[in-house]
Amino acid sequence: MHTLQDIAGALGLSGQPIPRISIYTLLTDSRKLVNPESSLFFALPGPRRDGHLFIPELYKAGLRYFVVSEKINAKNYPGGIFLTVDNVLTALQKLAAFHRSKFDIEVIGITGSNGKTIVKEWLYQLLQANKTIVRSPKSYNSQIGVPLSVWEIEPENDLAIFEAGISQPGEMQQLRDIIQPTIGVITNIGSAHSEGFKNNTEKLKEKLLLFKNSRIVIANGDDPLIKEQVDQLATPVFYWGSNKSFELEVNSIKKKSTGTRINLNYQGDKFSIQTSFTDAASIENIVTACAVALYLKIDSQILQERIPLLQPVNMRLEFKKGNNNCILINDSYSTDIDSLSIALHFLQQQAKGLQKTVILSDFLQTGGDTELLYRNILEQLQKHKIVRLIGIGEKMQSVMHAWVTAKKTKIDHHFFLSTSDFIQHLHSFSFKDEAILIKGGRVFEFEQIASLLEQKAHQTILEINLNAIAHNYKTFQQMLEPATKVMVMVKAFAYGSGGTEVAGLLQYHKADYLGVAYADEGVEIRKAGISIPIMVLNPEPNAFDAITEHLLEPDLFSFEQLDAFEKHIQQSGLKHYPVHIEIETGMNRLGFAINDVQALAQRLKNNSSLKVQSVFSHLAASEDVVEDAFTLHQYNLLQRAAEELRETIGYAFLTHIANSSAIARFPKLQMDMVRLGIGLYGIAGKKVAKKLQPALTLKSTIAQLKQIQKGETVSYNRRGVATQKSTIATVRIGYADGYSRRLSNGVGYMLVHGKKAPVIGTVCMDMVMIDVTHIKGVKEGDDVIVFGNGLPVEELARAIGTIPYEIMTGISQRVKRVYWSE
Ligand SMILES: *Cc1c(COP(=O)(O)O)cnc(C)c1O
Repeated sequence: MHTLQDIAGALGLSGQPIPRISIYTLLTDSRKLVNPESSLFFALPGPRRDGHLFIPELYKAGLRYFVVSEKINAKNYPGGIFLTVDNVLTALQKLAAFHRSKFDIEVIGITGSNGKTIVKEWLYQLLQANKTIVRSPKSYNSQIGVPLSVWEIEPENDLAIFEAGISQPGEMQQLRDIIQPTIGVITNIGSAHSEGFKNNTEKLKEKLLLFKNSRIVIANGDDPLIKEQVDQLATPVFYWGSNKSFELEVNSIKKKSTGTRINLNYQGDKFSIQTSFTDAASIENIVTACAVALYLKIDSQILQERIPLLQPVNMRLEFKKGNNNCILINDSYSTDIDSLSIALHFLQQQAKGLQKTVILSDFLQTGGDTELLYRNILEQLQKHKIVRLIGIGEKMQSVMHAWVTAKKTKIDHHFFLSTSDFIQHLHSFSFKDEAILIKGGRVFEFEQIASLLEQKAHQTILEINLNAIAHNYKTFQQMLEPATKVMVMVKAFAYGSGGTEVAGLLQYHKADYLGVAYADEGVEIRKAGISIPIMVLNPEPNAFDAITEHLLEPDLFSFEQLDAFEKHIQQSGLKHYPVHIEIETGMNRLGFAINDVQALAQRLKNNSSLKVQSVFSHLAASEDVVEDAFTLHQYNLLQRAAEELRETIGYAFLTHIANSSAIARFPKLQMDMVRLGIGLYGIAGKKVAKKLQPALTLKSTIAQLKQIQKGETVSYNRRGVATQKSTIATVRIGYADGYSRRLSNGVGYMLVHGKKAPVIGTVCMDMVMIDVTHIKGVKEGDDVIVFGNGLPVEELARAIGTIPYEIMTGISQRVKRVYWSE
């Protein structure tokens, strides 16, 4: 926290009268606004939308303090304070450096290509009983993430752990000035993120700039590249590795199937640590964390106790459908105040209209003041307008309960001593229409609660990676001119991925429009609290009521339909109702014929019932090089029709024709808006697909394993014949789930432990058998990937002569959708 005056001073701004206000939050993303009274917004330039564009919206939400680089007409914002700087990002960084300089504490700066976040989290797990630690949230390690992390240092902290990542030369110096690490840690240098650099040496040199003023650098002495470069630093070095002369000598690493034993020698103290991790990357990260802890004078005895307790770092926030229209967010990341704030933001983003409930366990005590910690937790819950709190644990029942009472909060609260206590009382809670965050330390085993509240379904799930969807959305946006709008087609439950969840995410990312096929789909989305405009491609007359009631915008494609809808509007007493006009240019599906455009223009001219929002057409073959001339012909027809309409009806409207493949292949066809569909899920032509992330994974599990002899047969009509002694796995998915029967008899395959297992015999209604003879260590209950990473849905589609669209939208509603986000 700093006063606004101090902040202005730190940015070298003086002269302007500034009120005495305390600023707690630096805001760089307008969507994350929680407490406007004490937030300062930095109008950062974005790749597409400049931060200055969000000032009116933030002002309306009550925010008054802004750091800007453009001229703002202060008259439009009474009471607003605008700190004007040359470069908003530099100002943010300068402020963070100023904040950092107020603290004389140990600061660990971590850089490297891989393992930064894991080493940071493991150090946190190892040291949190001894220190009051502040650390970067998630993987905040960028030019923006680092200043936001450093701003979190509070007077009670006695150790800070921050990550620094760079993507191009010249960036590390900025980060060094902000972090000012006293201890430098370099993790694995792989080939990741090397685009901006000539080679690995250049990249490493840049990274090591972070440590210029550090007291010590901790590094892997066995990596020749690291050793060569680190040896040249003026800073003292703490090496770990196999060499006897290193500060921490790794004597041996013994791997067994159950775990790994690492024998270490720290200045003559020989000891061994035990971990259940066996992969090389985890071992390297563990030894790195040990080296840092030893340097910080943590006893080897304590490390021997704590290393086996290290938990995998999982920053996934999973969200699932619960019973009674609830959504559940299950966060097993960790229990500390920073991760609570991240989870509450995610809850806010997903909850939409639903009321918010939090089920929370005692927090891991980080050595600080207990009273203060629980008061902070309560304040966070209040800020995020949590309606109901269920606290579980001794501290919840005593300290938290006392705060809730003392502060006279309106939060409906219930406290239980243990998870089983709460479960015994579960029947007295009726969870309904709620967004529920379940966040508990591992010892509390909150997964029991999650599974009781979860909608029951069989073990075949479609996983939807919301980060990938957001990434793909932004990737397509960046192919467009900044002014071009985006309509996202979320018809057929957003191509099978679940309409309302994806629509919610798109609203959050400020999509301009949504498109659905039928009115019902639009109604569902509206009921989930989504307010952005929605176009309905195929509005049926019996759905006109639903359309106007939920402010959906119909696509009008014939005179009959136009007449009927106009009549409906007149009878409802509405005026200037937004509609879209579809022109037939060659798809021969829906649309007014080109020859009818003049007559149509006359019908729409001076029409007080209907307001044309957009005029559009649909391409028949935008992905097909052979048909490119036809594609351009369609575009030209639409252009001409739109001009004719505009001239006659006398006002402006949007025009659009491009679907996903046209966005990628024909930037010239983007017009005023594009209609993005399948690309959102990571599916596109080769060139663009490389930049996208696959968003959907269809997963199932093995119900039974069977050993069969050569000559035995599998499934109906005995079509699958074992050509040798074989192991057959029965998987819990069939054609009723959308796994096509055409994939029978070796046409399709699935992935088990990352290896291909072909379908043997005919696909049944609810099950299918696969051959896992050649795959070692397969057990009943193991996961099976039906499609996803490593087995693209395109490949499955190709095998049976169809397109990904059909497979995705054919996944039945019996398959549970699980959403996750990092
Ligand atoms: C489905 C649809 C789209 C999106 O097409 P993609 O190929 O999935 O990008 C665009 N416009 C209309 C009219 C559609 O029906």
